[in-house]
Amino acid sequence: MENKEINMSKVIITAISALILVIIIAVLTKVLTSKKQAAEVVSENPQTQVASGENVWKTTNTTLTEANVNNTQATNQEANTNQETNTNVEQTQNNQNSNNEPKANEQNTANTSATTEKKKSTEGVIWLTFDDGPSANITPKILDILKKENVKATFFVINYSNSNEHLLKRIVAEGHTIGIHGYSHEYSKIYKSKETFMNNVYTLQDRIFKSTGVKTMYTRFPGGSSNTVSRKYCKGIMTELTKEMLAKGFKYYDWNISSGDAGGAKNAKDVYKNVTKNLSKKRGNMVLMHDFGGNKKGLEALPEIIKYAKKEGYTFSKIDDDTPMYAQHVNN
Ligand SMILES: [Zn+2]
Repeated sequence: MENKEINMSKVIITAISALILVIIIAVLTKVLTSKKQAAEVVSENPQTQVASGENVWKTTNTTLTEANVNNTQATNQEANTNQETNTNVEQTQNNQNSNNEPKANEQNTANTSATTEKKKSTEGVIWLTFDDGPSANITPKILDILKKENVKATFFVINYSNSNEHLLKRIVAEGHTIGIHGYSHEYSKIYKSKETFMNNVYTLQDRIFKSTGVKTMYTRFPGGSSNTVSRKYCKGIMTELTKEMLAKGFKYYDWNISSGDAGGAKNAKDVYKNVTKNLSKKRGNMVLMHDFGGNKKGLEALPEIIKYAKKEGYTFSKIDDDTPMYAQHVNN
């Protein structure tokens, strides 16, 4: 009888202990969930989140920074290949800067409702962008893949030889977007002054127009708008240029996913990983790739990236007038 009572007591104590444990777990879960939600709310804030492109677009001059890109750029100023390499979403998130200009904040308020609409339409969209082409040995192959997969993309070109002019025509004929990267890609020349930069843009814009009949207003700064190498040639030039470009009706597009195909990635598999692991359905995905001569890593990874993205339910788009601007934080 006594044993039975002891057993009963044991059972009761065990049951109470279990109940307390369940309550503790429930409370902990709730606390963690609310923390996570808080973090998500923070990440919706354009001033604090690098990777959410839709938020980035409305602030034009305010969001992501890329220390790693800048480091790379510092050592590759003259090369056409390695400028836009290491922008990793996670890396850039740690480099926020709160120097938002009043003008950008005004835009935030003004565009709030438009942003909400845009945001919905860009979720799960991928914009593949190819910089530093066209090249005779890579660009046609990229175009072949895009055609086969029925994917439209965007090419931010630099000046091209007459023998490559047909590639520009082909890009347009096959329904892709051409954007301006720069007649020259040499930082020491283009970032010397506002005048030299704008001339560099207009010269290429004219040439593209003559080749294709398209007057493109889409641009990508060599090194991205957050590059700090330009500071060496003219302090404050990026602040000036980002304003000037918008004032002249241009849109500029940075990126929130860097494939690393111009430097960071060792091989095609790395390129594939850099892109696919950073894709998100909760935002638009502006993917930086390159089609300069000999860049096989990006080329080889491209079919697999497209296959993966399609399988996961992403959609592809080229940059057009409905595409929100993806702008990183200006550091100079
Ligand atoms: Zn470039």
